[in-house]
Amino acid sequence: MPKVIPILPAESWTAVEKIHARSIHGAFARLRWAFVWLTQAIFYGVPWLTWNARQAVLFDLDAKRFYLFGAVLFPQDLIYLAALLVVSALLLFFATAVVGRVWCGFACPQTVYTSIFMWIENRFEGSHQNRKRLDQAAWGPEKLFRRGGKHTAWMVFGLWTGFTFVGYFTAIRPLTADVLNLEAGYWTTFWVLFYGLFTYLNAGLVREKVCLHMCPYGRFQGSLMDERTLNVAYDHRRGEPRRGTVDNDHRDTRDGHCIDCTLCVQVCPTGIDIRNGLQAACIGCGLCIDACDEVMTKVHAPTGLIRMASLSELHGTSDGQKPLLQRVLRTRVWVYGSLLLLVITGTVVAFSARPEVRMNVIRDRSVMARLVELGAVENVYTLQLMNASDHHKRLVVNVLPSDQVNLTRPVSLELGPAQASKVTVNVRMPAVEAMRHTGQILPIRFVVGLPEIADRHEVEEPSTFLVPK
Ligand code: SF4
Ligand code: SF4
Repeated sequence: MPKVIPILPAESWTAVEKIHARSIHGAFARLRWAFVWLTQAIFYGVPWLTWNARQAVLFDLDAKRFYLFGAVLFPQDLIYLAALLVVSALLLFFATAVVGRVWCGFACPQTVYTSIFMWIENRFEGSHQNRKRLDQAAWGPEKLFRRGGKHTAWMVFGLWTGFTFVGYFTAIRPLTADVLNLEAGYWTTFWVLFYGLFTYLNAGLVREKVCLHMCPYGRFQGSLMDERTLNVAYDHRRGEPRRGTVDNDHRDTRDGHCIDCTLCVQVCPTGIDIRNGLQAACIGCGLCIDACDEVMTKVHAPTGLIRMASLSELHGTSDGQKPLLQRVLRTRVWVYGSLLLLVITGTVVAFSARPEVRMNVIRDRSVMARLVELGAVENVYTLQLMNASDHHKRLVVNVLPSDQVNLTRPVSLELGPAQASKVTVNVRMPAVEAMRHTGQILPIRFVVGLPEIADRHEVEEPSTFLVPK
């Protein structure tokens, strides 16, 4: 059974100076930017999509409707949201067990926005060396221009993010018009500013401290990994002892491959030294791999001194001869993977079988039961009907069993997309039946169907019929 691996806690490391990470190119840097583009194209693009003449994805909290392309979700459907959260958690567990903190390094909004904000910083203030110099320089026109420009660009980007976020809860096209005409409501303005400021602070000013001291996931990630989990790791056996000479062709055979250039530390967005071992402060971005590979190539040594590797592989106790797939497929991966598959399948099946018409039956408490002409009995109910589709529906209501009860008048109604309506119905039991069941509470069912398909019920809801003594 693979052991849980020890990870140096984030508290063991504290940045003394402000971190100015050096830019680096390489496979991991490209992958990070691919994720930035992908996630941001989705985030900023989705609210502008249209579906059947309305916003395709809209969480309309006022109307208590969630529009998801062709589906309309009511508060009763919150179970699907809960299922989505469970799927996200299991996906995170699964990915962590296989490849460590891949979420943190590539898809977490904190990482993604920090990358974007660092890119903006780079445009205004230049390389990491220039930024350090600017920190120490006295205030003057240049510093004012560069710092002012950076903060202004950060704030504009933050506001755009806040505006987009609010656009998931308030239809984004009217919202745009309101914002441009300075007619947005008090709460709308508050939330745009709040999320804008939140983005500005988190990605611009707080940055890695969120990962180190505020994120709960960073705290328990160690319990999800074991010695066979792939992580960004430094190969001690190959790298140590570090050597002074740069050229690999002229090194002492007892020397390791690390030339102690510290480039891996300079590019690290959290400012840690991966050569000290696996650390909670490491977000698994792989930039140190890019940096070290670049160095190894320059000194004519094999790349991969820092690489994605498991602890057992680095300690020489691994089943390294087995293919990668066999190495990652182990008990905890199977467990997380199977649970994930189960919950996804269950959610998809339940969601696709979700009825498009919903009904709540509420008994009229003030008129429990009443005797009407010729000894017949009537009960009164309020039916709340909801159309959870994006098209009009004409509905016919009926009550069963038809040999015992019937409606005093035919009930049919038309519901628009996502519309809900209440209708009061009187259910009557003829005198002969009422005499037979006097003093009883009988089970009945309300059924709702489409007029064109008489014998198929869209929805069915049980209730009771009271026969007085
Ligand atoms: S140690 Fe490497 S992988 Fe970890 S955060 Fe720093 S650069 Fe990224
Ligand atoms: S980049 Fe590579 S060679 Fe340079 S210090 Fe880091 S591990 Fe050593």
